[in-house]
Amino acid sequence: MAPSHVLKCCQKVLAWVPVAFIALVVAWSYYAYVVELCVFTISSTAEKAVYLVIFHLSFFMFVWSYWKTIFTSPASPSKEFCLSKADKEQYEKEERPEYQQEILRRAAKDLPIYTTTASRAIRYCDRCQLIKPDRCHHCSACDICVLKMDHHCPWVNNCVGFSNYKFFLLFLMYSLLYCLFVAATVLQYFIKFWTLCHRKAAENCPKNEFPYTRAKFHVLFLLFVAAMFFISILSLFSYHCWLVGKNRSTIETFRAPTFRNGPDKNGFSLGCSKNLREVFGDEKKYWLIPIFTSLGDGCNFPTRLVIMDPEQLAVSSQNEPAKSSGPNQSFPTRPLSESQNQLLTSDSQWVESGPEEENVKSGAKKHIIVSLES
Ligand SMILES: [Zn+2]
Ligand SMILES: [Zn+2]
Repeated sequence: MAPSHVLKCCQKVLAWVPVAFIALVVAWSYYAYVVELCVFTISSTAEKAVYLVIFHLSFFMFVWSYWKTIFTSPASPSKEFCLSKADKEQYEKEERPEYQQEILRRAAKDLPIYTTTASRAIRYCDRCQLIKPDRCHHCSACDICVLKMDHHCPWVNNCVGFSNYKFFLLFLMYSLLYCLFVAATVLQYFIKFWTLCHRKAAENCPKNEFPYTRAKFHVLFLLFVAAMFFISILSLFSYHCWLVGKNRSTIETFRAPTFRNGPDKNGFSLGCSKNLREVFGDEKKYWLIPIFTSLGDGCNFPTRLVIMDPEQLAVSSQNEPAKSSGPNQSFPTRPLSESQNQLLTSDSQWVESGPEEENVKSGAKKHIIVSLES
């Protein structure tokens, strides 16, 4: 076997170490809570039953969402984003970047792409040989282009992106609940243990009042581990809640996507409620269950330039006067025909009174773009 293959195999195995570590901690916490705390330490049957039911419920949801985050494959762009064979050959033969861009521009003409690189070039992945859809990034760890990539998470050994972002959020939420429940119920036994220790030292209290030394050890560590994980996950979860509210990925926080009018970190923000629905879906009953309900296909995202019907425009233009969508930006409010490819063609398409406006026939399901209040 070639050395590079051995190295790759080693890397693949090593990448599972953080996951194995978490799995071991979770398995130990299950044993410590169920066996050492509930079976050996708690004497009241009612208390035992209530704790065990709630514990297993939170444990199950936590493990389920963690499992789904780990084993949901990252979504890659569909075939329509790959260059045709002829274009690919032409692109590879061509050495001048401006001509390469011309080929990409032609290929991207009918694709739903609203963002470019900071230098206004079509975003192209040389490694995967495809035109990157909006919000898609190449992950060097997975070596593929990942739709709506958020980050590559070593704790799940997977890319967090369009296909599993909801699972990742639920995993954070359920792990917080799990840690909180464990810490809250263990606390009284932890205190009991310490006060007994003190009494033992001071008054020489009888042995066997807190019978199992082993249980003491597990109870002590359960509280420490649960509190430690709770604090560290809380900050990450709060950050991701804020990101969901803004419909922004971690990558977009550090590097704002470039739209036609320039970089705009809020370019995909549709308002807090709609942003939440983008990730969790329209049906609230599925929000807390780790099954895929995110809206869209991962390649095509509504922007603050929302695509809607002419009839809707008539209503919305009466109710919602055009607003500036950012401190330094205002999007055009005039309808544009779908034949104009979003942000990739020349500046002239944004001229206020283009002839294409007349192409929008009433009743026809032509898409137009209108600025919405975010
Ligand atoms: Zn790629
Ligand atoms: Zn990755």
